[in-house]
Amino acid sequence: MMKPKLKDLQNFTKQYFPRKCPVVRWKKMKKYQGLAETKKNIIYINPEQKGKGKFGCFVGEGLYKPRTKIKFKKGEEYFATLIHEIGHFKIKLKSPKYFQSIKNKVLKELKEAREKPTLDNIAYWAEEHFKKDWQYLEFRSWLGKGSMNEHIKVEDRAIKEFKKQRKKQNKPIIKLYESKH
Ligand SMILES: [Zn+2]
Repeated sequence: MMKPKLKDLQNFTKQYFPRKCPVVRWKKMKKYQGLAETKKNIIYINPEQKGKGKFGCFVGEGLYKPRTKIKFKKGEEYFATLIHEIGHFKIKLKSPKYFQSIKNKVLKELKEAREKPTLDNIAYWAEEHFKKDWQYLEFRSWLGKGSMNEHIKVEDRAIKEFKKQRKKQNKPIIKLYESKH
């Protein structure tokens, strides 16, 4: 697999941030290909992009599969992941305020029942506080790794941005941003 240099990923990122560009770092992760730490201003990219080959990202409760037919050329999966993580800095969806109050309520209930406040327990106990399934699903992803709706918006933006990048001089993205030395 063709792996870009970290320097090239960093240069690529700069074009999206005239000020305060996030730092790009390698980080081996079991579940994720990339991670946006927006508060620390860091983007982590998994040095081994596993089984990507196409767009789609894991969101709290499952896989979001967009209907695109784009296939990555060698090394482009790194940029696709990077563009996705950049999107988390650009698109921020606020989860409803009542999520926190439901979480607090459940934490209290768990304490009274002498149950451990694990993510699984919170999710399980919270179910009865929701009337609609999609709200409950969104709550569960909010509990874990962020809003499902946000991930989906970010992935859709990433696909558009990826196409734009590729159109520049008609080259695979990795070739476009390869440093000369
Ligand atoms: Zn995401």
